[in-house]
Amino acid sequence: MTIAGVLDEHLECRTLAHAWRYTDVTRDGRNWVQGRACTRCECLKYVTISPKGELVSSRYVYPKGYTIPGGVTADDRNALRLRSVGAEPARKPKRRRSLRAVS
Ligand SMILES: [Zn+2]
Repeated sequence: MTIAGVLDEHLECRTLAHAWRYTDVTRDGRNWVQGRACTRCECLKYVTISPKGELVSSRYVYPKGYTIPGGVTADDRNALRLRSVGAEPARKPKRRRSLRAVS
């Protein structure tokens, strides 16, 4: 899938980042695991926090159709921003063959 395959329902999270709300908290040994869920795309995030409050790790569970194999480049993000405003991404101008003067 390319960015052209990004679902409309995922576009806001792709351009604005996820809108998290807290879900639940569990323990992993001495650490806390705080669950978060995106209110728009249903992405889940699990943040492991040490007893000192340090961020140990984060794990994501993405909704079906969200992930893009190979990741997203800066150009992809630009194209998604243009899509979010209803504009088509700029295309590279085609090279024109040089015109020769006809005598
Ligand atoms: Zn989201």
